[in-house]
Amino acid sequence: MARQICERCYRPQTVCYCSIIKRVDNPFSIRIIQHKLEQFKAKGTARLAELSLDNCDIEIVDPNVESWMLHAQDIVLFPTDDATILTSDYIETADLTNKRFVILDGTWRQANQLMRACQNRHKASFIALGVTDKSLYSDLRKTKKKGAFSTFEAITYLLADLGCQSSQISMLEHTFKHFLDFQLFIQKKNKHDPAI
Ligand SMILES: [Zn+2]
Repeated sequence: MARQICERCYRPQTVCYCSIIKRVDNPFSIRIIQHKLEQFKAKGTARLAELSLDNCDIEIVDPNVESWMLHAQDIVLFPTDDATILTSDYIETADLTNKRFVILDGTWRQANQLMRACQNRHKASFIALGVTDKSLYSDLRKTKKKGAFSTFEAITYLLADLGCQSSQISMLEHTFKHFLDFQLFIQKKNKHDPAI
């Protein structure tokens, strides 16, 4: 029998996480450029972010065969050597009216591929997060790179740095914590019952 897939989170009904989502009206728009191979990863958090935020869209790109464009209002969250670190000085002085923040969703290698597939990347404005805390997500995905966050975490930290309401950030943290707990619960359950 075919597995029932949730139309909202695109996961099998047995591991649907829709009930944990609390929607947030984020004042800064988020544009997620997702590597095609990340699309159906069970541990991926881009779709969770899209469902949790009123102003968030995902565009799926296969960097091997297609390119994408930055728009005038886009600022890319990506730690290049010349990226501006998000500090309170930056927030106070930069004109962020109507700006949209671009997040690359994939492994570091995939994110680099996505950046190379950006047609007008030479025009990009890059920013990087100032936080260096250990990723909450590291229990699920091993990463050696310091400051490497899941897409959902990166967006949460970004919105926090941009001065979003603390109640909104708390709601996102709450959703993420529930997501992690749920993922760990599924992992444990799968060990005992691989059919799930
Ligand atoms: Zn669902």
